[in-house]
Amino acid sequence: MMVSCTRRVMQDTCEKKHLLTLVTDLPSVTQDRAIALHELGMYRVADLIKHLPMRYETHHGGMTIEAAEALLGDQDAIPELVTIESTVIKVNPGWRRGKKSKVEAAVEDETGRMHINWFNQPWVARSLHPDMRIRLHGSLSIRKGLLQMNNPRWEEIKEDEPTLTIDSELRPVYPASERISSSVIATIIAEVLEGALPEIDDHLSQAMLDTLSMPTLSSAYAMCHKPEANDAVKEGRRRIAYDELLLLQLGVMMKRHHRLDTMRAPKLLWNDEIKQRIEARIPFTLTKSQQAVIEEIAGDITTTMPMNRLLQGDVGSGKTVVALHAMLMAVTCGSQAAMMAPTELLAEQHYKTITTLLDNSQVTTALLTSSLSPKERTEHIQKISDGTIDIIVGTHALLTDDVIFSNIAVAITDEQHRFGVQQRALLRNKSDDLHAIPHTLVMTATPIPRTLSLTVFGDLDVSTIKGMPPGRTPITTRLVQPEQADKVYMYMRELLDKGQQGYVVVPLVEETDSGLKSVTAHAASLRDGYLSGKSIGVVHGRMKSDEREETMQQFRSGKIDVLVATTVIEVGVDIANATMMIIEHADRFGLAQLHQLRGRVGRGLLPGVCALIASPTTDDAQHRLEAIVETTDGFQIAERDLEIRGPGELFGAKQSGIAPFKIARLPRDFDLLRLARRNAVEWIQRDPTLHNSPLLRARLMHIHGEALGLGDVA
Ligand code: ADP
Ligand code: MG
Repeated sequence: MMVSCTRRVMQDTCEKKHLLTLVTDLPSVTQDRAIALHELGMYRVADLIKHLPMRYETHHGGMTIEAAEALLGDQDAIPELVTIESTVIKVNPGWRRGKKSKVEAAVEDETGRMHINWFNQPWVARSLHPDMRIRLHGSLSIRKGLLQMNNPRWEEIKEDEPTLTIDSELRPVYPASERISSSVIATIIAEVLEGALPEIDDHLSQAMLDTLSMPTLSSAYAMCHKPEANDAVKEGRRRIAYDELLLLQLGVMMKRHHRLDTMRAPKLLWNDEIKQRIEARIPFTLTKSQQAVIEEIAGDITTTMPMNRLLQGDVGSGKTVVALHAMLMAVTCGSQAAMMAPTELLAEQHYKTITTLLDNSQVTTALLTSSLSPKERTEHIQKISDGTIDIIVGTHALLTDDVIFSNIAVAITDEQHRFGVQQRALLRNKSDDLHAIPHTLVMTATPIPRTLSLTVFGDLDVSTIKGMPPGRTPITTRLVQPEQADKVYMYMRELLDKGQQGYVVVPLVEETDSGLKSVTAHAASLRDGYLSGKSIGVVHGRMKSDEREETMQQFRSGKIDVLVATTVIEVGVDIANATMMIIEHADRFGLAQLHQLRGRVGRGLLPGVCALIASPTTDDAQHRLEAIVETTDGFQIAERDLEIRGPGELFGAKQSGIAPFKIARLPRDFDLLRLARRNAVEWIQRDPTLHNSPLLRARLMHIHGEALGLGDVA
């Protein structure tokens, strides 16, 4: 057995002799080029093959000037490079200033005339003379109605050379670097292509490819590297993009299957009696949407299949009470529940909300953050592990190794985009049962656009709270130039005079020489200036938490009129009497961040106002500010954010460690993504561990195994 295995491996290696060849062993790869290729992540021929062109150019063979002019008339997306044979009529040495120079020439053929410029190549003037026949190669442009070429390559046409035949060719343009050009990469790839292509095994069956009407992997790479026509390029890229999407979907579905099939969570109870008991504690009526979401959650956690659900709902939509329902379902069944928040401030806020709602009940609660004293911490941990505490609220301090629950049934994470995908669901139980995990609910106020929810977050079921609780007045948002700041602060003053409160948000804690406002300095200048006589408090992330809590308490009780703060107040602060927010240097903040910040006002019956003070200096900043002024709908804001920033940066996708797509682009390839998802779902149903497709499985593990934590699955 051993022997035959070894032989197979060796055979495989032999069969892949081209693909496995080191680039340093290729004749055309000099030492310099090797270094450059290594820098671009290419070590073997296989890496070269996977290095796909970023775009294509059409190169035209011999062409007349007249035809070239016509070509320019209907230029489409692909830049045209042409070769033209012509006769020099005039050479003008042009001008020269220091290192800069320009040589001009006029050329003609039987059909027309063209103007040529060579910049910074003064020697050209010496090599060219009238009546000389030259072949020019470069891209075309029009200037003052005359066809021209800038810096074309050129060579003299020998007497006996045949004229060029007219043809056109699509040439790949590769991602390159300063050390190595696209055309050198193209030459190297062209040399290895023929040997390597037949060695590429497909992980999809021919039958499946037929159904999908897609080419084999080998032909797809051929189509991309040796393009014959635009359509072929598209076909090749489509197959490779599909593969990228399919592999991620398979990984996600594999993990999902593993969770549902082999992991277990406590089966909790949900009935009218429990429902009424919880609702009796809530001082308002749940909206239809909140009720629907609670039923979805209840549907999950009344089974032993571990829930993995994302609860999205705009800022202020009322996610906390929904979470409380899930936690109380656990407590009713004698289990524990935990709620984890990204900041101490938010954890404190949640703790306060929860304890207020549970006032005079049997339910025991505790707050675990890193600002507890060692003694308090030890006590809390003890009570968590012996089951004395039912509901634990905390920060990531809950994730340390010594926090072990007696029997946790529900784990809730708030505002998960700050955690990144990986940090979820690490809360552990005392039991040794490796297959027992809690039900998990992740809450976010930054809705995840559909395209992304299917990829990085593809393992999550999504519940959405639509709309807001009744009685909210929409927030008015205005963009204000810094010169007009006085008007804004005067308006705030008027509101404060009426007994309302406000926030002023600045980017920095302490003064630097960046010219940006800081909490301390700005608070001082407001005390002496626009807001003199008003009580001004400060809050930022570098304060001790008891100090901060005290300030918050004073703000809550109305002793403080205005809170000058950094983005620490972005989440969780819930004070209905605060009606106005001024954000200084608003162009410095991200779109989701601005939306979150703005959500701190307009939380009561009084109308909310948000003034963004900024004079944006970049297009992106301008677009962000336009978006935030135009809409208060978090879902629209999330889509705009995706447009402005691109998917990579959002929602912890980067921190997730999931390999980025090389070819697939979202939202452009959304249809392909849906196809891949459908196929992956069916596939994993048939073959949950991809046992029957070892090559596919190996490639999947190689690319996503680690990031998706597929180790236990396989
Ligand atoms: P978020 O979704 O931003 O976490 P919260 O859960 O903090 O929102 O809720 C925002 C505010 O709305 C809280 O003061 C909460 O008590 C209140 N609230 C939630 N649901 C309702 C409801 N159905 N009717 C009235 N007020 C509600
Ligand atoms: Mg919240």
